[in-house]
Amino acid sequence: MLADGHVLIGEKRAAPRAVIHLRIRVDRVTGGRRGQRERVAVFVAVGERRRDQIGGLRTGPSAGRWTKLRQRRREGAKLRHVLRLRAVQRADRLDHRHFMSVLLGDVESRQGEGENDQDDRDDDQQLHEGKTRASASRETLASAPLLFVHHCYIMTRGGRQACKPSANCADRNVIMAESMTLHRVSCVIALTAILLRAQTATPDQRSFSRELLRQLVEINTTDSTGNVTEAAEAMAARFKAAGFPEEDIRVLGAAPRKGNLVVRFHGTGGCRPVLFNSHLDVVEAKREDWSVDPFHFTEKDGWFYGRGTSDDKDGDAALVADFIRLKQEGFQPKRDLILALTADEETGGPYNGVDWLLKEHRDLIDAEYCINEDAGGGVLKDGKRLNYQVQAAEKTYLTFTFTTTNPGGHSSLPVKKNAIYELAEGLDRLRNFSFPIHLNDVTRSYFERLSHIESGQVSKDLAAVAEGHPAKDVVARVAANAYYNAMMHTTCVPTMLSGGHAENALPQRAVATVNCRLVPGDSEDYVQHTLQTVVAGPGVAIVAPSHALPSPFSPVNGPVVKAIEKVANEMWPGVPVLPVMETGATDGRAMRAAGIPTWGAMGVFEDPSDIRAHGRDERIRPEVFDDHVEFVYRLIKALGDECPDR
Ligand SMILES: [Zn+2]
Repeated sequence: MLADGHVLIGEKRAAPRAVIHLRIRVDRVTGGRRGQRERVAVFVAVGERRRDQIGGLRTGPSAGRWTKLRQRRREGAKLRHVLRLRAVQRADRLDHRHFMSVLLGDVESRQGEGENDQDDRDDDQQLHEGKTRASASRETLASAPLLFVHHCYIMTRGGRQACKPSANCADRNVIMAESMTLHRVSCVIALTAILLRAQTATPDQRSFSRELLRQLVEINTTDSTGNVTEAAEAMAARFKAAGFPEEDIRVLGAAPRKGNLVVRFHGTGGCRPVLFNSHLDVVEAKREDWSVDPFHFTEKDGWFYGRGTSDDKDGDAALVADFIRLKQEGFQPKRDLILALTADEETGGPYNGVDWLLKEHRDLIDAEYCINEDAGGGVLKDGKRLNYQVQAAEKTYLTFTFTTTNPGGHSSLPVKKNAIYELAEGLDRLRNFSFPIHLNDVTRSYFERLSHIESGQVSKDLAAVAEGHPAKDVVARVAANAYYNAMMHTTCVPTMLSGGHAENALPQRAVATVNCRLVPGDSEDYVQHTLQTVVAGPGVAIVAPSHALPSPFSPVNGPVVKAIEKVANEMWPGVPVLPVMETGATDGRAMRAAGIPTWGAMGVFEDPSDIRAHGRDERIRPEVFDDHVEFVYRLIKALGDECPDR
C-alpha cells in the first residue's frame, strides 16, 4: 500500500519545467525481496518532443550522481520540461492505481524555483518535513499541451532484477545503465493519465468561468434588496453572445425580481433531455458582519471571497461556462441539455423558481432526470480528499406544534396539572424517543461503502447498520454521530418554546415548535400519529401548520450514478464515491417529488469544519473552483453523449 503521496510542481520562467516529487511509503516492490527495506525511485522522462526526453532521479546517497547525469543530459538536449518523481521508503505493493491516486490526491505546487542541487536539497528537506510551498502552478502541466511521457521506470537499490529493460529503455536512458535494478517498466500509462488528468480547459476558458463567477457575485440576488432577474439576464446575454439562438434562451419568473434563466442546448438523438439546475439567489449578507464586501468579488490570500462563491454561484458559473464551452467546441449532444438557473431556493415560498417552473412551464424544463449543482461534492479533511458524495435523496421538512392548555388560575395557588409541566413531560418523552431505523437504497449503500473506508469497530457497526436489524448497542454507537443518526431515520427536535401569559398566573397555554426531518417513505400521517401516541400523550395537541412534500429517493445503481462516479474517478482517482441522503434540503426535493429523478453532483471539495455558505466571509479556492468547472464540463459531456437505458 502506498501512502504519503506528495507532489511538487515547479516552474522557472527562463527555463520552464515541471518537477514532481512523489514520496510514497512502500514496503515491498514486486520482484524485490519480501520485507526488505529498499529505497525505491521512480524515473520519468518528459519532453515537449520525443527527442527532448530527459529524466531526473534521486535516490538519497547517490543524488549527486543523478543530478550530474541529468545536468549533462540537459546540456545536450533542449530541455523544456522535466518531470521528476521520487519515491522513498518501503513498498508493500506497487499498485498503479494507488500510485496514481497518491500522486493525484496530493498535488501541491511551487513556482519559480531554480534547477540546482540546493533546490533539490530544499525539496528533500521540505518533503521530509511535510511542508510545501504552494502556489497555483498546477497549470504548469495543464498548459503544456505537447508534454508527454516517454518512459517511466521504477527501480530499487539492492533489489533483484525483475525484468530486463526494453531496448527502448536502454538506448534512451543513460540512467538505466547505472546500478539501479529495474523492477517494473509499466507506469507509462499511469503517468500519461496523470497528464491527461490535468485540466482540459484552456487558460482563456478558465478565466472566462472565473469572470462569470465574479459577475454573478457582484449582482446582489438576496431576497431583501437583490434582484435575481438581473443575474438571469446577465447570463442570458452571455449565451446570446456565445451564439445560442434567442428562442432557446428564456428569462421568466413568478415576480419581476424573481426571474429564472432556462436555456436549451439542442441534441440530435431521441432521448429525453437532461436538466442541469442551480440557484441564482443567495442568503442575506451584511457588510458589517464581513471582513470584505460580500457583493464585491475579492481575491485574497488564495481564496475568492463573496456571497455565493460556494452557494451557489459557483454552480451557476460552472454550468454557464461549460454549456458555452461545449457549444464553442462544436459538441453535438445526443439529447437536449437544459440549463435552469433559478430563484429563491434559499427562501422557498411562492417565488421558488423550481416549483414555479414545474407548475407553470413544465415543458421548458421537463427532463428524464436532473443534475443539481447545489448538492453533492467532495469532503476534505486536513487538505486531503476524503470522499466524493452524490446526493440521491433528501429528507422532508415538517414542523409540528405541540400545544397544552389549562384553565389556569392564580400562581399563589398552584396545582399539579399545569400546561407547562405537561408540555415539558411530552418533550422529555420526545428526547428519549427514536423513530425506527428506516434505510433506503441510498442510505444503505452509504453505510455499506463507508464501512469499507472506516476501520475497526466503526467499520463493523456501519456494516451492521447497512445489513439491517443492527443490535441496540450498535445503533447507540452509530447514532452518537449526529450525521449518521440523521441518515438512519426520521428525527424530530423541539426548536422553539413559549407559554403562559403573566408571571403571576398559572399558564393557560404552552406551545413547542417541533421540527422533523422525514426520511423518504415515512409519511406525514405516520409521523404525526407516532408522535401523538408514543411521545405526547392525550393532553398534548399536535398540529402540522403546513404539509410535507414527499420526495422519493433517486436510484443509486443506475447509469447516471455510474457516469458521475466515472468522472469523479477520472478527476480524483482513489477517492471513494458515496451516495448520500441530504439531511437538509435543496431544490432537488421538488424535482424528485415531481417525478424527475435528481442527483446532486457538484465538483467542489469542502472541509466540513470550514463551511461558510450562508455565513460570513463565504469563499472558495480558485483551483477548487476550476476543478469544479472541469468536473461539470466532463459530466455534461458524458451524460449528453449517450442515451443510457435507465
Ligand atoms: Zn444552495
